[in-house]
Amino acid sequence: MVTNSSHRAEHLLQEHDLRVTASRIRALKFFIDNEHALSQPDLEKSLGDEFDRVTLYRTLTSFLEKGLIHKVPDDAGAARYAFCSHDCTSEAHQDEHIHFKCNICGNTNCLDELPFPHFKEPEGYTFIQTNILIQGICKNCRAID
Ligand SMILES: [Zn+2]
Ligand SMILES: [Zn+2]
Ligand SMILES: [Zn+2]
Repeated sequence: MVTNSSHRAEHLLQEHDLRVTASRIRALKFFIDNEHALSQPDLEKSLGDEFDRVTLYRTLTSFLEKGLIHKVPDDAGAARYAFCSHDCTSEAHQDEHIHFKCNICGNTNCLDELPFPHFKEPEGYTFIQTNILIQGICKNCRAID
């Protein structure tokens, strides 16, 4: 079945110099279709019949390197990844945005719409990367009560 997101996934793979394979399309489509960040176990659950762990790990690594997904900070320490909605490339990721983690469902979302603050480095410090994780209740969980 060809859907818009698998079409988009195919294009993105080509644009980011990745060989287009059915399994890569499926993995990337899974990111495009999910609003929230995904962990490797999430992907294994949904794609485990097609991917073994090593292949999945390699697929994630190549997506990260090519600027298709980015790592999302997490208070529990489990690595999560989210689709890069900006023009990230293998040279540079442009994902300076705030992440939001819901205390109820545990999902993490990219909040691209919020302005990202820039902090002045205190004397003697060099900032390399800024991660901001806000915790609270997401719109889906809010809608339940
Ligand atoms: Zn990125
Ligand atoms: Zn939630
Ligand atoms: Zn993000």
